[in-house]
Formats: sequence, C-alpha cells, structure tokens
Amino acid sequence: MQKNIEEVLATFDATLDNMPQGVALYDKNQSILLANRRYAEMYGLAADDIRPGMSMKEILQKRVEKGVYIGTDPARYVDGRVNAMEHPSNEHDVERFADGRIIKKTRKPMPGGGWLSVHEDITDRQRVEDRIAWMAHHDGLTGLANRAMLQTKIEEAFAQAKREGGEFSILLLDLDDFKIVNDTMGHPVGDKLLQAVAARLRATVRAVDVVARIGGDEFAVIQRADADQKASADGLAHRLMEAICAPYEIDGCRIEVGMSVGAAVAPGDGEHGEPLLKNADLALYQAKASGRRCVRFFNPQMDVALRADRSLETDMRFALANHEFEVHYQAVIEVNSRRTIGMEALARWRHPVFGLVAPDRFIKLAERTGLINSLGAWVLREACHEAAKWPPGVKVAVNLSPAQFKSGELVDIVRASLASSGLQPGLLTLEITESTLLERTDENLRVLGELKALGVAIALDDFGTGYSSLSYLKTIEFDVIKIDRGFVVEMETNHRSAQIIAGIVALSRSLNFTTVAEGVETPAQFELIRAAGCTAVQGYLFSRPKPAGELEFENLNVTGIGRVA
Ligand code: C2E
Ligand code: MG
Ligand code: MG
Repeated sequence: MQKNIEEVLATFDATLDNMPQGVALYDKNQSILLANRRYAEMYGLAADDIRPGMSMKEILQKRVEKGVYIGTDPARYVDGRVNAMEHPSNEHDVERFADGRIIKKTRKPMPGGGWLSVHEDITDRQRVEDRIAWMAHHDGLTGLANRAMLQTKIEEAFAQAKREGGEFSILLLDLDDFKIVNDTMGHPVGDKLLQAVAARLRATVRAVDVVARIGGDEFAVIQRADADQKASADGLAHRLMEAICAPYEIDGCRIEVGMSVGAAVAPGDGEHGEPLLKNADLALYQAKASGRRCVRFFNPQMDVALRADRSLETDMRFALANHEFEVHYQAVIEVNSRRTIGMEALARWRHPVFGLVAPDRFIKLAERTGLINSLGAWVLREACHEAAKWPPGVKVAVNLSPAQFKSGELVDIVRASLASSGLQPGLLTLEITESTLLERTDENLRVLGELKALGVAIALDDFGTGYSSLSYLKTIEFDVIKIDRGFVVEMETNHRSAQIIAGIVALSRSLNFTTVAEGVETPAQFELIRAAGCTAVQGYLFSRPKPAGELEFENLNVTGIGRVA
C-alpha cells in the first residue's frame, strides 16, 4: 500500500515536472507547499531554490535577486504581491517582465485557504496576437495608421474638441503621377518611394498629429493647432508639400513626385468623421483638377461644382450620339510670310442646357469616363475630312490625350481617318503633351514611331508647362514645339522668359523642329516672338477658334503687325 502511494506520488511529481506550465500551491499562510520545475525555471530560479515551507515573500525576494520582477522598485513589487494574496480570489492576470517575457497566471483559491496558481509563458502567442492587432490598425508597408485607425483618431479628435473647445484639421494628400513611377520603375521602387514619403510626412508633423496611409498613394494627417486652425493647416500643407516634392534617391535613381492636398476644418466643415472626410476629399478632387502641387480648402461651392461635373459626366455619354460635339479651328500663322499655314482643331461641346462648353471642362471628364477614345477618334476623322477641303498645303493639327495612346487603336484610327478623307499624311500634325511622354513606356514610344512612319508630323504641345524636360527633345524626333501661352504672356514683363524662348527656338532650329508660339494676343507680343525667331504663331490677335464654316484663309486680322505681300 505504502509503496503504491509512493509510486503514485512519484508519477505525479514526474507529471508535474514535465508540464509546460509552472504550478505552485500555497497554504493559507502564504507558505509554499509544492512547485514544479517549470515554475522555478520560469522565474529564473534553480529547482532547489524553492523548498516546501518557504514563504511567498522569500521566493519573491529570490526572484528579485535574479532580476525577474516588474517595475523599477523591487521592494514595492514584493510588498504589493504579498498584500494582494492575503485574500486570494479566482482570477488571472498577465505580467510583462523586463526581459520581454509575458506570463499569464491563473489562480484558484483552495477550500481551506491558500491557492493554486498555474503560470503559462505566452510570449510567442502574445507577439503574434499583438502583431495581428497592430496590423488591423496600421499599414504594413509604411507602418503608418490605416484607414480604420484614422477613423478612430478622428472620432477621438471630435471628442477632444467637444471637451476642450477648439478645432482640428484633416488634410488628405495624394501623390501626383505615383502610378507612373510604379509602372516605369517597378513596384519595389514604388514601395520604397512610399516608405520614404511616409518617413518625410512623419518628420514634418508634430508628435501629436496623426499620419495615416489610406490608399495606394493617398495619405491623411490630423492636425490640432493651438490657434487659428485654418492658417496652421495651410502652413502645414505647404511644409508637407515642400518635404514630399523634394527629390528622392532610390536605388541610385533620382525620383521626383508632386502632391495635391485637400483640407477640411472640423467641426465647421463636418461634425462627424464621414462628412468631414467626404468634404476633405472634395477639396482634394478640386486640388487635383487645378493642376499639380495645389492645396485647396473645402468650401460648400465645391459640392455644387462636383454635382455639375457629375451631371456633365452623365450627359456626356449621350453627347456624341446626339451630335453635340463640334470642332472649331484656330489659324496658325507663319511669322515671316504672315500666311495661314495651318489650323488647330479644338473640340467644343454644344450642351443643350449649358451652351458651349470648353474642352478644359470636358476633356478631363472624358478621360476619366473612358469616352476620350471615341471622342478623340471622332475629332480626328472630322478634322481630316474638313482639312481635305482646305486650300492646298494648309495643315491641320489635332490634339491627342495620353489615354488614346493606351487604347492600342490609335494608329489604326489615324490611318483610317487619312484614308477615308484622302488627306495627305504630311498635312496632319498630332499634338501630344508631356503627360504622354511622362509615361514614356516602350508602348508609347512604339506608337509614336508607328505614327511617324505613317508620314504625319508630331508636335509637343504646351512646352514650358509641366516638366519641360529637354531630354524628350533628345529622344523623340518632334516636328514642332509649341511654346505655351504662359511664356508668351510673361515675355513682356519678364526679360528671362524672352531669353528662354530664344533659347528654345535656337535649340529647335538645330534639331530641325519648327516652333509655334501659342496665345499671342497683342502686337507687342508678336514683335517679341518674331524677334526670338519663332516659325509660327497662334492667338486671338489673328483669330479665335471658329466653326469650320466660318474659316478664312486669307484676310486675317493682322492689323498692327504689318503685312507682307
Ligand atoms: P491647346 O492645345 O494648348 O490649345 C490652345 C488653347 O489656347 C485653346 O483653348 C485656344 O482656344 C486657346 N487660345 C488660343 N489663342 C489664345 C489667345 O490668344 N489667348 C488665350 N487666352 N487663349 C488662346 P481651348 O480650345 O479651350 O482648348 C484647351 C485645351 O483643351 C487645348 O489646349 C487642348 O489641350 C485641349 N483640347 C482641345 N480639343 C481637344 C481634343 O480634341 N482632344 C484633346 N485630347 N484635347 C483637346
Ligand atoms: Mg494643342
Ligand atoms: Mg497648347
């Protein structure tokens, strides 16, 4: 019998010692009755450091000697534990030790007093859980807060504003042309760029501000200023812009990106997270529509403008079939002979309610809705058929949107327009902008090559806006460079603009391109353009864009600039 009990106890001991959990049993006087090997190990003790009958205080003091305790004051830790266990109760808690380990303790009071405690090292499990919890609220790539976290933080900001009074701002930031970096330089570079952007955002805001990544290349900042919220937000927006737009060096490449910012101030621009974000988004939409590197604050008019855009967008689907589009033409005048050498085709939309809508209003919409391909094809066809009726040698120029390059149909459409109209390819000029070239994918270069092979001319439009990179001029054989109206306007007041134009003209001449100055409105401007050596001009001084039926090829208004026979 005795032997049997000893065997059972031996088995019990072995079982206890092999358990993955630490187990300790204390009596009602806080003296230890039993502890297994794992318990000792967990707290940095040797198996014989713990003997039956030792007080909990003694054991805790031994742990302190080994450095396994919590907090900075060991005596306080020991006393705290001893006091807490005067009335043991059914409970569990989790302790995080200085060495990084996390131990979960479950305690069970025993019938005659005292307690049994089970200790489990949950460090690994807890790390995984912590990581999962972290990932639910953060963006894995940049480590910034994610959209869910942003929403929580916005609600907290509202609560704080309500408690303490005052306002806060939300800024939405969107990188311009990030997609191009991603497509042309590869996703790994795109990822590194986003991480670098995140680091700069973090470094620019104050520690109390929240920075989140809420989309591929969209970020948000919650800012709480001490005084004048709008002025502070405006200041921050410009500081962020400066930080983000400075060049990056990634994998040995120099990269630049632009950024647009939309801002809203709470509670004035929205009393809850959802309307506030929606209004900041409207401001961002306006900022992007205004061009690169813009900051816009929400105002209620934006909502009206967006609704108008939406209704235009819907109407546009029927406009082509309803024959509401027209092509107007603006004369291109050769500087030396003052003769009309060409016409630029400019799309117009005769909207049944809004009247004549200018392309600045609808081209972007058409690009967004995908209608640009059918609209562009229609303009090309129309312009070629019209030009085929003009006096011999007068060229027609048609604007192309970057989207048309991507469609894969552009070359066929140009070929078909030439064939059906009978227009000589040499009389057609296609105008592209730098945004097409920015996406200098092999595909775009191949399409440009095929177009040139058809015999049509290629013009670089709006030169002097955007990037104006001279590297394009090296790689692509343009026939014409069109100098943007902005330069022409500045020429009269800014001596350097005139010099830049003269430089572009000289460069173009050596590369065999002709130059056209856009938007010439005054005789003085014409005189400066002529002096700079431009080949041709376009502008209200000679003619506004007109419907096909009203075109004149001779007697244009050339008053004030003298005529040559
Ligand atoms: P763009 O190709 O640079 O065309 C020149 C713009 O300047 C035209 O505006 C023209 O009316 C305007 N302009 C010409 N002379 C003067 C002047 O002396 N003073 C001033 N202030 N403006 C002048 P428009 O017709 O409103 O076209 C705007 C832009 O829309 C065009 O700029 C072009 O980029 C785009 N666009 C027009 N038609 C089409 C099209 O069929 N397809 C595509 N993809 N884009 C088009
Ligand atoms: Mg143009
Ligand atoms: Mg232009």
